[in-house]
Amino acid sequence: MTPPLANSNAARDIGSVLHPYTDLVAHQEIGPVVITRGKGVRVWDDTGRDYIEAVAGLWCASLGFDNERLVEAAARQMRQLPFYHGFTAKSHEPMIELAEMLLARAPVPMHRVFFANSGSEANDTAIKMVWYYNNAIGRPQKKKLIGRVKGYHGITLAASSLTGLVNNHRSFDVPLPGFVHTMTPHHYHEARPGESEEAFADRCAEALEALILAEGPDTVAAMWAEPIMGAGGVIVPPRGYFPKIQAVLRKYDVLLVADEVICGFGRTGNYWGTQTFDMQPDIVTCAKALSAAFLPISAVMVNARVFEGLARESHVIGTFGHGYTYSGHPVPAAVAVETLKIYDEIDIVGHVRAVAPTMQAGLRSRFADHPLVGEVRGIGLIGAVELVADKETRANFDPSRKIAARAAKLCEQHGVISRALPGDSLGFSPPLIINEAEIDEMLDRVRAALDELAVQLRRESIA
Ligand code: PMP
Repeated sequence: MTPPLANSNAARDIGSVLHPYTDLVAHQEIGPVVITRGKGVRVWDDTGRDYIEAVAGLWCASLGFDNERLVEAAARQMRQLPFYHGFTAKSHEPMIELAEMLLARAPVPMHRVFFANSGSEANDTAIKMVWYYNNAIGRPQKKKLIGRVKGYHGITLAASSLTGLVNNHRSFDVPLPGFVHTMTPHHYHEARPGESEEAFADRCAEALEALILAEGPDTVAAMWAEPIMGAGGVIVPPRGYFPKIQAVLRKYDVLLVADEVICGFGRTGNYWGTQTFDMQPDIVTCAKALSAAFLPISAVMVNARVFEGLARESHVIGTFGHGYTYSGHPVPAAVAVETLKIYDEIDIVGHVRAVAPTMQAGLRSRFADHPLVGEVRGIGLIGAVELVADKETRANFDPSRKIAARAAKLCEQHGVISRALPGDSLGFSPPLIINEAEIDEMLDRVRAALDELAVQLRRESIA
């Protein structure tokens, strides 16, 4: 590896930026990939090299990397009213219009919308809402929250406590007390030999019930779930999972919060992942594709029952004492309104349904028999291939070999940005506007990268 030239972007980055989700020591040697522009599903780095963005950035750039209408919507709003807020009953049209549009599109009847700036903030807000709500209705002891091992809900203090991933906990002194995690519904690894998806889903529901009983049902307030676990490895729940989970939650009066930060707005082939997996949440959080990632904005939708509790308590106290300076900021709100209009006009869900078979069948035809691949999974325009050391026993590689990160680096060299996920998986979640030819090109490049990795590993095992 040649060291970055002095005064290059790479050298300046190494000398100045503390990167999220990066080995900060290795970065001093390896340096960044500096992306300078984008168009459609592609981005270019500062050496002029192009990549197909197979994860839409961070599962978010749903309309790709250029869109004049969104640029115009932002510019128009900046000229008209660059900032206003929602505190003390102030309001503005983009916030009102976006709230109405979200309520009209909600997967189950929702009553009010609160805005924040990121998925983490949306989940943190929903956590505080659940606590506030249970105080309002006179059950202050019912406060514990259930996440899932490998679930991802963000990295603020409370959201990272719900997250169930080692790297988000280790050395950060989270999870905070009162956060517990139930098992990952991953049939490939967790099911017993011969166990059907339904029987495995039953066992997941039994594990949840055992956890609630062990904690004490009077102390458990809510469970958080992504329809598909994204950052934890694109884990698709087994058939029948959510109805069985919800039967347990209902039995103990535990709320369900659907984290739609990745799955919302078409990703799974329905407008919401909630619809794909038959979930009936009390609260929905969303972000990312809400604004096609052009500007940061997130939302929390609450149903009437939760809203009435929040409203009552705020009236006793005199205010709902929660809100961000930029809650419902008019510029990202205007961009989100335009984004949702574009989704309607281009029938984003219809498009995802039309091209998803190319991605899902393409993943399976190229990788199911690949010597390094144990499982291919996904639905709609989200998927993953999991790399295994032994296809028979389903054993992953020794984590110290960082095999998925190595595969992702090779993908980059073959012109695809994918994402190494926990459990040696490579994740795919391209811009929703991707077409069939681009999907094939993306998967052909990934196949070439994994073939190269297989050759390298064979050579290393002989050496
Ligand atoms: N929830 C889910 C399901 C996510 O995938 C993410 C981000 N990948 C978050 C929450 C956190 O969102 P943010 O990074 O915007 O805080």
